[in-house]
Amino acid sequence: MHDIKVKNGVDVASIHYNVRTDKKHDNELMDRNHYGECHNRTGELYVASQYGADLYNLSFIHELIEAIDSRFCQDNVSHDHICGLSEGLAQAFKSLGVRFVYK
Ligand SMILES: [Zn+2]
Repeated sequence: MHDIKVKNGVDVASIHYNVRTDKKHDNELMDRNHYGECHNRTGELYVASQYGADLYNLSFIHELIEAIDSRFCQDNVSHDHICGLSEGLAQAFKSLGVRFVYK
């Protein structure tokens, strides 16, 4: 598996998104029953770390698509479509031997 580290963040439309993966954000996400969150106003992707590598990968892709939706698609992509796109991309990347990891 080719692991791509995301701890240094990711750029979307020249906006730098910091990736927040740590105990504090794990706890916040758990309180809200979320695996991840995309905060476009502050340029942050929160991704929970306590559910294993596959779910980390999927959650990162999901939140990245939410950022892309905001910056490129005027928030017009439905949340169902974001879920489908992220599942599909996670499977496709897995078949290519690629996954996203925190560090
Ligand atoms: Zn979502």
